Amino acid sequence: MTNRAYNFNAGPAALPLEVLQKAQEQLVEYQGIGMSIMEISHRSSQYEQLNEETQSLLKELYAIPDGYKVMFLQGGGSTQFAMVPMNLLSAGKKAYFVQTGAWSNKAIKEAKLFGETAIAASSEGEKYSRIPDLSQLQLGDDAAYLHITTNETIEGTEFTELPDTGNVPLVGDMSSDILSRPLDVSKFGLIYAGAQKNLGPSGVTVVIARDELIQDSPKHLATMLRYDTHAKANSLYNTPPVYSVYMVNLVLKWIKEHGGVAVMEKRNKEKTSLIYSAIDNSGGFYRGIVQPEYRSLMNITFRMESEELEKKFVKESEQNGFVGLKGHRDVGGLRASTYNAVPFEACQALAAFMTDFQKRNG
Ligand code: PMP
Repeated sequence: MTNRAYNFNAGPAALPLEVLQKAQEQLVEYQGIGMSIMEISHRSSQYEQLNEETQSLLKELYAIPDGYKVMFLQGGGSTQFAMVPMNLLSAGKKAYFVQTGAWSNKAIKEAKLFGETAIAASSEGEKYSRIPDLSQLQLGDDAAYLHITTNETIEGTEFTELPDTGNVPLVGDMSSDILSRPLDVSKFGLIYAGAQKNLGPSGVTVVIARDELIQDSPKHLATMLRYDTHAKANSLYNTPPVYSVYMVNLVLKWIKEHGGVAVMEKRNKEKTSLIYSAIDNSGGFYRGIVQPEYRSLMNITFRMESEELEKKFVKESEQNGFVGLKGHRDVGGLRASTYNAVPFEACQALAAFMTDFQKRNG
């Protein structure tokens, strides 16, 4: 395939070429049924099978223990910011948060609409350049759950260990690092992730939750915003985003064929070390924003001496076939998103470009 850019977009983001080719091959006619997967009923046996298989693949890849439900919902991570407190935060309890940056702040803001919140730990004072010290967690008896953002997509930090919450359910927004490394799902009460970074296209949100947390949503909640609706209906209460689930299915098969999440982690480490090395070996020409211990394997953030030079970097990178290197508009600077589907060669090319750009401008 020609003309594939070096895609470092933050999300929606790169998909594996093999997955796109498979989708292309099956686009017009899916498995001999005389039409595409988009044109059949979600109540058909073909979709039911796809729904089941996609859940099973996720369970297998993450070794999800019994007692957890996998659901395919809509509305993105942003709807989960509301659904989590609507379903799990009862009167007299508080939603606790580890405050790590822009996305955790959005989750906090939304939770405040539904009840009381508290900050268990924060790195705000350090401009979100690290994950806070988890041994100092301030978790009260009134905690309904503790919410963490396992990877802050904008700042570029990632949890390297999980907080110990005892009996308090741990809720993880894993929108930008799901399936990028092995994970002990049993430590979580609930995990959610919009698909459009590591799992597939936008349009579907994966929720993995412990059965007992989601089987009885508060009675007053709207039907579509209750976890128990979707859990009982096996994600078929209403019309699901069939094509997005289909694409997630292909991505999960791709991960499996490539050896699973442990292999993804190994590759992600190799990929990111190329770019972090280019930063660290630049003598300050490139400056990492995050303290090295907490650097993300998914979103590499860095700055240069001036905004002018950053603009030049972005412009020249685009002329050289790189896409998506401009930092998020809220924080500026530069960002390379290196999700599972971003090939090693793209990271090699970026590291080489960075070194070359430095030679010409340093
Ligand atoms: N959480 C994180 C960590 C994210 O990166 C994003 C999207 N960039 C969201 C939540 C919001 O997701 P969505 O756009 O699917 O609502």
